[in-house]
Amino acid sequence: MRYLSQIFQPVLTIPKDAIIKNTEITCKSQKLLLECGLVRPTGSGLFTILPLARRVLNKLEALVIRCIEEAGAQRMSLPSLTAARLWEKTGRLQDVGAELMKVEDRHGKKYILSPTHEEAVADLLADVGPLSYKQLPLLLYQISNKYRDEPRPKHGLLRSREFSMLDAYGAHASPECAKETYERVTNAYRKLFQTLELPIYRVAAPSGAMGGSLSHEWQLLADAGEDTLQLCPECKSAMRSEQDSSRQCVRCASEMQLVNSIEVGHTFVLGARYSEPLRAHYAAVDAASTPLHMSCYGIGITRLLAASVEALANDKALRWPEAIAPYRVLIIGPKEGSKEWAVHGWEEVQGLGEELENEAGLYSDVVLDDRHTHTIGRRMKAADRMGYPIIVVCGRSTTEQPPRYELYRSKRVGYSAPVLLTRAELLATLATEANVTKVEVNPKEICAAESS
Ligand SMILES: [Zn+2]
Repeated sequence: MRYLSQIFQPVLTIPKDAIIKNTEITCKSQKLLLECGLVRPTGSGLFTILPLARRVLNKLEALVIRCIEEAGAQRMSLPSLTAARLWEKTGRLQDVGAELMKVEDRHGKKYILSPTHEEAVADLLADVGPLSYKQLPLLLYQISNKYRDEPRPKHGLLRSREFSMLDAYGAHASPECAKETYERVTNAYRKLFQTLELPIYRVAAPSGAMGGSLSHEWQLLADAGEDTLQLCPECKSAMRSEQDSSRQCVRCASEMQLVNSIEVGHTFVLGARYSEPLRAHYAAVDAASTPLHMSCYGIGITRLLAASVEALANDKALRWPEAIAPYRVLIIGPKEGSKEWAVHGWEEVQGLGEELENEAGLYSDVVLDDRHTHTIGRRMKAADRMGYPIIVVCGRSTTEQPPRYELYRSKRVGYSAPVLLTRAELLATLATEANVTKVEVNPKEICAAESS
């Protein structure tokens, strides 16, 4: 269990009369994550992830791993440095050129700090190959830091030069098999985004520098987004918008709306775009050596953290998908010296915290606000800014028999009116919710409900 005063969270307090000159802060997530002590910039487009943001990333990674492994993926780790000659063979050294971070070792050998690993994976499969058709399909993934030499890093973690990503790579013996894996991973994405309860839409996309035959972007609706979608308010079908005016929905004939969005994921069927130049082959039934049909999948993990803040926070306060909030529950005890403090003092508050962690399934997800010299109101205000999904206050009603606790839930702005619960009711309520979030969603159902 954590005590609030011990959390390393260097909050930036800007005096009320200060004249803000910092024009580098261009969006809500960048401002709030910095001011609330979750990240710290160390240079242009570079950030130290502090403990609270690290917890969000840990939770996000755990969800991503669960979803992608259910789709059959196996985890591995590729080096961040990829030999530049591999990128030369696929032509991307020239195509992506300026955005690559380039490195040279003491022998003059050239590397890139990889923004993505299609070449590295194709080279691995060539090195161990040719694979037998019986070993296919194969789906490999990693979660690691990637690098991009952005010309103008901006919007904090939304467009940084070092970022964490899930990248997964499929290898198949036929285009049909590649399509099947694509559908499976698509369902994994839907399940992940449904768990996060974020408005994320899959839209058809041009394949661009990646090459290949089929691709979708996964776009989160948010005002600060640099992309624009056409979204149907009726049937919720969405498409990329290259124009400024809205058009009619092909499916239900409603007028579509123009909305801003942030790309948080991308999926591609690549065909032989990488396997052919890098000679990643498989041995077919007739033993003929043929280039693999590949697919690849990405989710920006650090970007998704910032994007969910963009989508959910208000101007003054953080808000989180409950599944990835740094801590799920904050407990605020009575003010020291008050009447409640005499009846329900610090030991009682600690005991409640332990029960929530050990009996309600909230292990390591509870923080105790141990600044009991401050009023409850003042601590509530600070908690609002951090956006804890749930706040439990030990207030006046803890002097009743039996004692009752105030349960608050975060809303877009502020918190819901408190519900008064006995200790047993509180434990039961939160235990049920902790269990509910563990229930698996059937991806087939999600698939059926979604537009293509
Ligand atoms: Zn429609």
